Amino acid sequence: MSLSHIVIIGAGQAGANAILELRAHGYEGNLTLIGDEPHLPYERPPLSKEVILTPGSARVEILSAEKLEALKVTVITGNGAERIDPEAHLIELENGETIGYDKLLIATGGAPRRLPMLDRLEKQVYTLRNLEDARKLVTVFTAEKRIVLVGGGVIGLELASSASAKGCRVTVLEQESMVMKRCAPAALGEYLVGRHRAQGIDIRLATGVTRAEWQGEEIHLSLQDDQTLVADAVVYGIGIVPNVQLATTAGLEVDGAILIDKHCQSSHPDIYAAGDVAARRNGADRPRRIETWENANNQAAIFARHVLALEPPAARAPWFWTDQLGINVQFVGDMAAAQWHVRGDMAGPDTNSAFSLLGVSDGTVVAGITVNQPREMRNLKKMVDNRVCFQPETHLDTSRDLRKIV
Ligand code: FAD
Ligand code: ADP
Repeated sequence: MSLSHIVIIGAGQAGANAILELRAHGYEGNLTLIGDEPHLPYERPPLSKEVILTPGSARVEILSAEKLEALKVTVITGNGAERIDPEAHLIELENGETIGYDKLLIATGGAPRRLPMLDRLEKQVYTLRNLEDARKLVTVFTAEKRIVLVGGGVIGLELASSASAKGCRVTVLEQESMVMKRCAPAALGEYLVGRHRAQGIDIRLATGVTRAEWQGEEIHLSLQDDQTLVADAVVYGIGIVPNVQLATTAGLEVDGAILIDKHCQSSHPDIYAAGDVAARRNGADRPRRIETWENANNQAAIFARHVLALEPPAARAPWFWTDQLGINVQFVGDMAAAQWHVRGDMAGPDTNSAFSLLGVSDGTVVAGITVNQPREMRNLKKMVDNRVCFQPETHLDTSRDLRKIV
C-alpha cells in the first residue's frame, strides 16, 4: 500500500512526538493531526506544578503554530474524531467531515476515572487532566482554603504540594496503606509521606470517603474510619480510564486499553496506538500500559519508524519523574523489584536531602530511584540497562563514584 497520508488522532504528547519523528526520519507525505481540545499540543506534567504555582511564566507548548506550519502539518483543533472505519480507511469528525488515511495513529490518552459520589456535589469538585482543569485549580488553591485531595497517587501528591505552597490547608485521603503504590516501592512512599506531613499536609492512609454532602457553604465528608472532614473544595485523582471508544467501535482488540504489539500496531495493521491509551501485549503476562511522558514519546517514535520501515529505537528501561515539595524524584526500571537498598542518607534533615535507592531482584540491579540527585540517574539507568550484578559493599558506599563503577 502507498504511504501518502498519515493521520494522528490526539494532539497530546504522543501525537506531537509522532509528528516530529515522522518528519525527522524523512516522511514527506501528507500529515494530519486531529485534536478535540482547542489548543495546539501541550505537555501535561507542568499542569499539577508550574501552571498552578507560577501561572504567568509556566510553559507547556510542545509545537507552536509556526513549527507545525514549517513541518507542513494539517492541524485540526476543537473537532475530535467520532468514528473510524478501518476497512474504508476513513475517519469521521465531530462536525461530520470525513478524512481518509493510509496509516493511522490513535493517541487519545485517558480521562480521569470518575467518583460519582463526589461528582454529585456538583460544585467545588475538581479533577485534573487538561489545561482548563489546571487553570481552574489556580483560582481554587488560595490561602487558608480547606482542600481535600482524594487519591494519594502522583497527581494527588503533586497537587497536595502545590496547594500547600499556595497556603491551603490540605488533607490527602488514600485508600491503600501507602501512597503511590501503583508506581513506587513502599520505602519511597514512606519517605514522601514523612516529608508531606512535616510540611503540614495531613495524609491519611487506608481510608476513603463514604459520604459527601453540602452543609451550608461547606462540604462534609464522612470517612471509612468514621472520621469526618470539612472542606471548601475537593479534588480527586484516582487514576485514568483510557480513551478507547474509537478503537472499540472500530472493532480493534481492546482490553481496557488498545492492545498493541512491539511495533505499536493494533489488531488492524494500518492502525497503531501509543501513549496512555495503549497497552503492549506481553507474552503470557497481562498487557502493560505505561502512563508516563517518556513512554508516550517512545511509543510515538516506535510507530513512526515502523511505518517508515526503519529500525526501532533502542529499548530502554522505563523512566519517569515527579516533583513534590521541591523534591525531585526520578525512577528507572522495575518498581516491583524484590528488595530496595539505600545509597546515602534517607533520614536527612529536610527536603533538600539527596539519596538513591537501588532495586534488586535475583541479585541483579533492576531498578533505581534518585531523590534530589538527578545527575545520578544516568548511572542508575546504565546499571539497570546493563543488568549489573548487585555488590552492596561498592554500590551502597557513597564514597565510591557510581560513574566509575558502571
Ligand atoms: P495526552 O497527552 O493526554 O494526549 C491525548 C490527547 O488526545 C488529548 O489532547 C485529548 O484531548 C485528545 N483526544 C482524546 N480523544 C480524542 C478524539 N476522539 N479525537 C481527537 N482528540 C482526542 N508523566 C511523567 O512522566 N512525569 C510527570 O511528572 C507527569 N506529570 C503529570 C501531571 C499531570 C497533571 C498529568 C495529567 C499527567 C502527568 N504525566 C506525567 C503523565 C503524562 O503527561 C502522560 O503520560 C502523557 O501526557 C500521555 O500522553 P498521550 O499522548 O498518551 O496523552
Ligand atoms: P494518578 O495518576 O491519578 O495519581 P494513580 O493510579 O497513580 O493515579 O493513583 C491513584 C491513587 O488513588 C491510588 O493510590 C489509589 O489507591 C487511590 N484511590 C483510588 N480510588 C480511591 C478512593 N476512592 N479513595 C481514596 N483513594 C483512592
